[in-house]
Amino acid sequence: MMQLNEMDNQVTILMFHKVVPSLSLNHWGPITLDDFKAQIDLIGKNKYSLLTLSEMERHLLGRGSKKRAVLLTFDDGSCDNYEHVFPFLRERGIPAVFFLCAGYVGTGRIFWWDRLEDWLLKTRKQRLILRSGQGEVILPLKSRDDKIRAFNGIVRYWHCGRIGANELLEEIKPLLQVGAESATRSAMSWAEVRKMQKAGFGFGSHGVEHLDLALIDHKKAKDEIKRSKKILEEKLKEDVTAFSFPYGKWNPKITTMLRAAGYKMAFTSVPGEVRPGDNAYALKRRTALERMK
Ligand SMILES: [Zn+2]
Repeated sequence: MMQLNEMDNQVTILMFHKVVPSLSLNHWGPITLDDFKAQIDLIGKNKYSLLTLSEMERHLLGRGSKKRAVLLTFDDGSCDNYEHVFPFLRERGIPAVFFLCAGYVGTGRIFWWDRLEDWLLKTRKQRLILRSGQGEVILPLKSRDDKIRAFNGIVRYWHCGRIGANELLEEIKPLLQVGAESATRSAMSWAEVRKMQKAGFGFGSHGVEHLDLALIDHKKAKDEIKRSKKILEEKLKEDVTAFSFPYGKWNPKITTMLRAAGYKMAFTSVPGEVRPGDNAYALKRRTALERMK
């Protein structure tokens, strides 16, 4: 049975990524549409109020409703969110906020996790050997289960190093000997975003390039923060005041940059609930999966 916050005056912010009919090799962020619907139904049955972004802001200032509440957030602006999440939530009148990567919306660019999944599905290689300072990691690629483990292994391997995801992919691609990606896009189009905006859904920034802001230099981090806001505001013709940290990575310097750029709230992936008076630039979130257990 799902346990959300038991206390009045608390908000549980749920964090979702891709929502897909069935999981492929990536079991790291996506959930299935059935699991998603089951979770939303449970929230409804438990009579939580579902918040909009501005209600979330009021809650932080202590001016919100005292009822137990939930805010639904979706990172990355994946096109499946438009296809599957949008019609489901719209039909039920449930609000949500979508954090977009400004450099991906309306382009044919493919997120690295989608590229990696695609390559692993297609490769005929029997194994992948990754070499780092600490030694070798050998990942078998014979079966589908091997490939699921390999996907997770690569993500773990990448998290241990101080290297960008795209640089890592450049290293891996020749080893897998695959051609171009099969997918034509990863993110929503601007027309889809506008349709969702018209239906009342909220949007925030998830940077331009989906970079780890704590890893890149300050100038670049500042650019990600400011430029994504500018692009989104021009396209949406409304203020964009919420930011979700790519990979949940942040530090006090990044918080200062967000504040200076005019953001009012920032969402982490640190697990926990949110109470009035909490730091609006370090909002805790729960993942969908942990809440389903
Ligand atoms: Zn993300």
